[in-house]
Amino acid sequence: MEREARDVRQLPKTHLHLHFTGSMRPTTLLELADKYGVRLPEALTGAEPPKLRATDERGWFRFQRLYDAARSCLREPEDIQRLVREAAEEDIADGSGWLEIQVDPTSYAPRLGGLIPALEVILDAVESASRETGLGMRVLVAANRMKHPLDARTLARLAVRYADRGIVGFGLSNDERRGMARDFDRAFHIAREGGLLSAPHGGELTGPASVRDCLDDLDATRIGHGVRAAEDPRLLKRLADRGVTCEVCPASNVALGVYEKPEDVPLRTLFEAGVPMALGADDPLLFGSRLAAQYEIARRHHDFSDAELAELARQSVRASAAPEDIKAKLLGGVDAWLVG
Ligand SMILES: [Zn+2]
Repeated sequence: MEREARDVRQLPKTHLHLHFTGSMRPTTLLELADKYGVRLPEALTGAEPPKLRATDERGWFRFQRLYDAARSCLREPEDIQRLVREAAEEDIADGSGWLEIQVDPTSYAPRLGGLIPALEVILDAVESASRETGLGMRVLVAANRMKHPLDARTLARLAVRYADRGIVGFGLSNDERRGMARDFDRAFHIAREGGLLSAPHGGELTGPASVRDCLDDLDATRIGHGVRAAEDPRLLKRLADRGVTCEVCPASNVALGVYEKPEDVPLRTLFEAGVPMALGADDPLLFGSRLAAQYEIARRHHDFSDAELAELARQSVRASAAPEDIKAKLLGGVDAWLVG
């Protein structure tokens, strides 16, 4: 049989799980650190991505500390603009036709003049990067589950207020072992009432119960990660029946020790169960690979055929908040990739 060798970077797809600072190019981080005289932890200055293991709280804390160090190099609106433009360029190079970037504006507020100015700087940057690169981009505002649920409510209201400036969804991130999803149900209610999609993290660091909580308490339309649902066949069926998409990030899972090896990420299990997936890079800055590499993992470690990779790409398109005309164009491009 002829070896299938279509380039996954040419496969049209969307990117629905990418964190703001985590999208930064390593070279940009070094330049910004230089610009501001920031001494970065050694783990961020090496040629290799840092060794992380977030399956215990200390490991997760270390991961967050590295993330914070990188974020501390984003100080001016021009840094934010550069970050977003480069994220768009990287996405385009990887075949993405639509990017939803995830951000908690609270953590940028101290350096950008407060919560609202920070959000406006971010939304402006997304709008101009989209205009300059031609890539459709939107924003998910994510609350931090390490903070008080009232903060999440404030953020949800803000996200709704700025919905017409490019915010399409509301998320919940950080250590799943802290707090309960239902503590944030009011915030998610506000977001959903305001027309935003619900896309909390779940089923990454903790098991299937955390995915169920996202469905039951936050009425999730998408789940950040969700891979641990693979441990519960009934939950898989529920996700499949409801058409809830899991934003699966294989390289991230391996880097953080959720799974030992790329072949352990349950891509096949979810796919065969009919659970829609949107592969994502999560934090390329820390995990060392971007969007197309996730599809490469599916091909190399899980024997996804080109037809199956095309189906993954279609699932990513359908789960996005892209307007129908963009979805149709991307889906057409997927078919063309497969035929070509
Ligand atoms: Zn994430």
